Amino acid sequence: MMSAKIFVDGQWMTPVNGATLDMVAPSTGEKIGTIARGTAEDIDRAVNAARRAFEGPWGQTAAVDRGRLLSKLAQKILEHEDELTALEALDTGKALKLARNDIRAVARYFEFYGGAADKLHGDTIPFLSGYQVMILREPRGVTGHIIPWNYPAQMFGRTLGPALAAGNAAVLKPAEEACLSCIRLTELAAEVGFPDGVINLVPGIGEEAGAALSSHPDIDLISFTGSPEVGVLIQKAAAENHVPCVLELGGKSPQIVFADADHSKAIESIVSALVQNTGQTCSAGSRVLIERSIYDQFMAQLTRRFKQLRAGPHDMDLDCGPLISKVQQERVMGFLDRAKADGIEIAAQGQVDAAASAEGFFVPPTLYRIVPREHELALDEVFGPVLAAIPFDDEADAIRLANGTDFGLIAGVWTDSGARQMRLAKAIRAGQVYINGYGAGGGIELPFGGFKKSGHGREKGFEALREFTVAKTVVFNHG
Ligand code: ADP
Repeated sequence: MMSAKIFVDGQWMTPVNGATLDMVAPSTGEKIGTIARGTAEDIDRAVNAARRAFEGPWGQTAAVDRGRLLSKLAQKILEHEDELTALEALDTGKALKLARNDIRAVARYFEFYGGAADKLHGDTIPFLSGYQVMILREPRGVTGHIIPWNYPAQMFGRTLGPALAAGNAAVLKPAEEACLSCIRLTELAAEVGFPDGVINLVPGIGEEAGAALSSHPDIDLISFTGSPEVGVLIQKAAAENHVPCVLELGGKSPQIVFADADHSKAIESIVSALVQNTGQTCSAGSRVLIERSIYDQFMAQLTRRFKQLRAGPHDMDLDCGPLISKVQQERVMGFLDRAKADGIEIAAQGQVDAAASAEGFFVPPTLYRIVPREHELALDEVFGPVLAAIPFDDEADAIRLANGTDFGLIAGVWTDSGARQMRLAKAIRAGQVYINGYGAGGGIELPFGGFKKSGHGREKGFEALREFTVAKTVVFNHG
């Protein structure tokens, strides 16, 4: 694999300054490879290549042909499912079954957007007599993509699928903590025949390659997934050039359980939506809000289930893996230490398997009982396998609590009452609301994105195609 290179204008090349970064396996702390450490000059070369591609034949490619290329890539990914699964698991530390799911998802992104490419229609508008107006949906042009380390392969498909289907040429800056699958996927994309310059990949660190991409004057749209803090930096940099941004910035998503819900079903979903990817999921259901009348009974059941959770290296395929890095492990342990100092009671903890390496970045899955509403565990994104339980009094209180953080990404509502389901779906300020279910990570067809500090703009589904295109109004005065 071309791991220490950048991919620009259809060529794998050494970054201008020749610098590299070491990649470490989260399960063991061992070095597993090197990647290129691209800088502003490399980003500039990539943006120029994308611009040439967009202004060249790619800009004239029929939608059906773009769609076919994406579909071919989907097929190619499935042919390499085992290899990509092993690579993703090693690089991120996630359990093999989850990595496999991610690889199927990236194939599904290209399948979905391959099929959608020629189904994106413009509009006509009734206007004055003697006129005809049509709205064309045109690609933005050159799109910049900055993605995180938690789902590198899935993010590759989520962000590039709609951008390429819509006819843009792209520059992708993957995360420095994990990006081996993105490098391999780029190789596969080149093999299926995407023209030179349509997909450019510049690995590197955020403050260098990422900052250069977000501040580049010749980008037409930035799509970013990551932390709210970096989201602000990206928006500010892009604003200097009046470049629009689609931002997905995480959450503190609630699972809301009413007394009349199916408890067993809710518990399975709550646990899996939290521990999936070891809590390192923007849409992790990291707060469980429980109606007070059933609080003790529900917590007893949840506690029993939580105690069964096991964390271990990716190849043991357990409930949780390690966190991505030492830095993240220390961040999450900081939450646990402060909760202890603040006297917040742990209701249950899973186990880190005895076979797990002491050099791996493990944290035991932890459930907290009755977290005070103003505590950081109730308000801040932990990005680890940590669940905060909070009782509520009635429906109005549940809605207040659900909406009571800076975030608004997704929510799960567990109740049998149809009217209450509808009231909560309308009252909750989040980009996705699930009724008697929860969709962390899934649903390629389903528009996804935030309210408030969870970001703005929408990914997935047809909404993403709208983001990666722009409306042009053409007015004919035919008399
Ligand atoms: P996380 O907290 O999940 O690591 P970050 O927001 O730090 O998320 O990183 C997400 C992506 O943003 C990564 O690809 C990272 O390299 C990039 N990034 C980090 N800092 C900057 C920055 N100042 N400008 C542009 N991109 C950045």
